[in-house]
Amino acid sequence: MNLILLGPPGAGKGTQAKRLEEQFGIAQVSTGDMLRAEVKSGSEIGLKAKAIMERGDLVPDEVITAMLAARVSRPDAARGFILDGFPRTAPQAQALDRMLADKGLKLDHVIELKVDDAALVDRIAGRFTCAGCGTGYHDSFKPPAKSGVCDSCGGTEFTRRADDKAETVAARLDAYHRQTAPLLPYYAAQGKLSGVDGMASMDEVARQIGAILSGKA
Ligand code: ADP
Ligand code: ADP
Ligand code: ZN
Repeated sequence: MNLILLGPPGAGKGTQAKRLEEQFGIAQVSTGDMLRAEVKSGSEIGLKAKAIMERGDLVPDEVITAMLAARVSRPDAARGFILDGFPRTAPQAQALDRMLADKGLKLDHVIELKVDDAALVDRIAGRFTCAGCGTGYHDSFKPPAKSGVCDSCGGTEFTRRADDKAETVAARLDAYHRQTAPLLPYYAAQGKLSGVDGMASMDEVARQIGAILSGKA
């Protein structure tokens, strides 16, 4: 099964992609996570991407599509993948269609997570991640059961993203509305698009996605 989770920054794509990865044994492919790993390692891609990401702009399409093509060729993606944060522009969507056609693969569903801009600002401002295992948390909406200790791995170190600050969020939302939202009609025309209420609880969003995947939505 090959899926795209489409939605603005903070909509819950990563949260739901992780659940789907566990549930179906298919790979979460997050271009944002991949780029942050490149930045951390100081690679050529990372050096190019760092300032762009901190401004809240999009990294050039050629860089992203090359990175994605390499990723979906890895063995853990053979059973399928959940694209989280890709495609974000029309050229990326077209490159993906070509890439899938070359591999004889198809997209099963594109799922839009719908969340109001005002709620996104709160979600992004409270977001943090376990440095040890990558589990995502939120100050108000998903704090660890024991404060300061990761539920999954017991780790006590957490990170916050450099671009998750109020000044950058506006630029990221703007990039979403201008460059990514136009992909919704593109996928609707392919008959692949379904929407879920991203304002609902994490469990309810997961339930709605499950209904779409099982054809019961
Ligand atoms: P969020 O989950 O908040 O939407 P991501 O982690 O997906 O954010 O992306 C963080 C940043 O990485 C983006 O603001 C952008 O600069 C860059 N990025 C990630 N994916 C892409 C992509 N497909 N195309 C261009 N830039 C990207
Ligand atoms: P994205 O990958 O789309 O940028 P995340 O999955 O990282 O979004 O979610 C952004 C923040 O909002 C995280 O701190 C996460 O714990 C929280 N979050 C995700 N889904 C929900 C939800 N349905 N209700 C409340 N908070 C949520
Ligand atoms: Zn952890």
